Amino acid sequence: MAKKSGRTGGQRRRKSQKMQKQITGILVVIVAAACLLIFGGGVPGSAPELAPLITDEHAFAMHAVDVGQADAILLSKDNTYALIDAGETMSPSEREAREKLFIYLDSLGVKRLEFLLLTHQDYDHIGSALDVLKRYEVGTVYDNGITHTSATYEKLMQYILEENISYRVVSAGDKIPSPWNEVTLDVLSPPKDLIMAGAKPDINENSVVVKATYKNVSYLLTGDAEKKAEEAMLAAGADLNADILKAGHHGSSTSSTKAFLNAVRPAVIVMSVGEGNEYGHPHKEPLERFVQMTKHIYRTDMDGDVVVTTDGEVYSVVTRKPHVYENVIVPNQPAAEA
Ligand SMILES: [Zn+2]
Repeated sequence: MAKKSGRTGGQRRRKSQKMQKQITGILVVIVAAACLLIFGGGVPGSAPELAPLITDEHAFAMHAVDVGQADAILLSKDNTYALIDAGETMSPSEREAREKLFIYLDSLGVKRLEFLLLTHQDYDHIGSALDVLKRYEVGTVYDNGITHTSATYEKLMQYILEENISYRVVSAGDKIPSPWNEVTLDVLSPPKDLIMAGAKPDINENSVVVKATYKNVSYLLTGDAEKKAEEAMLAAGADLNADILKAGHHGSSTSSTKAFLNAVRPAVIVMSVGEGNEYGHPHKEPLERFVQMTKHIYRTDMDGDVVVTTDGEVYSVVTRKPHVYENVIVPNQPAAEA
């Protein structure tokens, strides 16, 4: 079975990683896992089933689930899960985003999410959140506390209230209670008094930014944080250094400034982007900066689901489709003039 052979391959690679670590420090291994898509039972018309991409359930993993031009980042370790954003796209060609997320979570056997963190209130980050709450048991919902007037957000908050689901607002300096031993979850943004505070604080800039650290390896998850948020984190002296960066705002030129990237110094950069999206994400300027920084650049529009796993010392990247670096650095066409 594809699933079993994937596991064995993963274990072999981890052993070799450990041997080489003494010489090279942290090592990145890239495994293309195109063959891992299998179809349930071979019954014609039955829903597709996915083979899990993680090879070690005890590793701490960040899964950038391919949900089109939206974010859905799953964290997992020891069969315990948490979700950062449950985005959905409005593009008719990508409508199956919610299905994709549920198929993905079901493929891992997820029944409960210890928390659902919504980085901000845009549809491409909260579009499936209500359905996530209805479908899975969720411990606590976190967000930045900004009241948004969209029907999607209002319905979501109403449901949280009606069902008495635990809800907390987080800001820089907070620690999200970690469901995993030795994993810390530090909130680095937005500041308590928000960025561009006022009657209508900017939603993207006030994305909740979290640094997840397991022993010596860190993931920096930035939602759609933009330049002002990056500047605020730098000015606040936040410890931004991380091995893996989920790039802000789908690789938009609004985000990933040179100063910010220099502080993060990521070895792996992952972007959640929809194929041929109307915004032209990722943009050329941040891509050029990414290429200066690392060769390990992943985007869900080309790689499909991207999973980074770590044992706290070394890490590896697995992709749903075969990963071709040359494709990854080719910028999309600029967005058409509105
Ligand atoms: Zn977004």
